[in-house]
Amino acid sequence: MKALEERILAEGKILPGPVLKVSSFLNHQMDPDLMMVLGAEIAQRFQAEHVTKILTIESSGIAIAIAAGAHMHVPVLFAKKHRTSNVSGVLYQTLVHSYTHGTDYTVVVEREFLKDSDRVLIVDDFLANGAAVEGLCDLIRQASATTVGAAIAIEKGFQEGGKKLRDAGMRVESLAIVDQMDENGIRFRQA
Ligand code: 5GP
Repeated sequence: MKALEERILAEGKILPGPVLKVSSFLNHQMDPDLMMVLGAEIAQRFQAEHVTKILTIESSGIAIAIAAGAHMHVPVLFAKKHRTSNVSGVLYQTLVHSYTHGTDYTVVVEREFLKDSDRVLIVDDFLANGAAVEGLCDLIRQASATTVGAAIAIEKGFQEGGKKLRDAGMRVESLAIVDQMDENGIRFRQA
């Protein structure tokens, strides 16, 4: 998506990792107009899938998930980061490895919000190695619900997540795919 790519080029900063910092419009300060444009694009791409629920992970995925949910008129559920893994039977839980922090954390959703009849679209801000999306898939699996795919704002195409998920048969739609980011700048995969 041109609007997102232009914004990344204008304001993105490359940190060691490599991590793409987009704190001026997505990860800290947020641009609501851009979020709504991204949400509309996600809704359009998945309109034939009869999505009943969007699932994201706190906190950076929530804004774009809300924008997509507003366009699709479906509820948005976010997996909450949980301090301990000792939780009761009212929750589904899974362990996720954080790419940006290098640690593992537990995420949970309340069972009452994820039903076996749900057709769930996963939404997140970034896709790197795929751990966050895989964790969300695991929660959906525990609920015996259906994953219709994943919609991602920015995929880092030079990391393995996108290939791994697509090879496993998942539909992954990324609004911008960064194939290279280094001292020579940022390059996007052409559609
Ligand atoms: P994965 O689980 O696919 O390895 O990483 C995705 C998660 O890590 C996203 O939810 C996002 O919060 C974070 N992340 C991974 N790479 C980046 C990056 O380059 N920039 C930012 N801001 N977050 C990232």
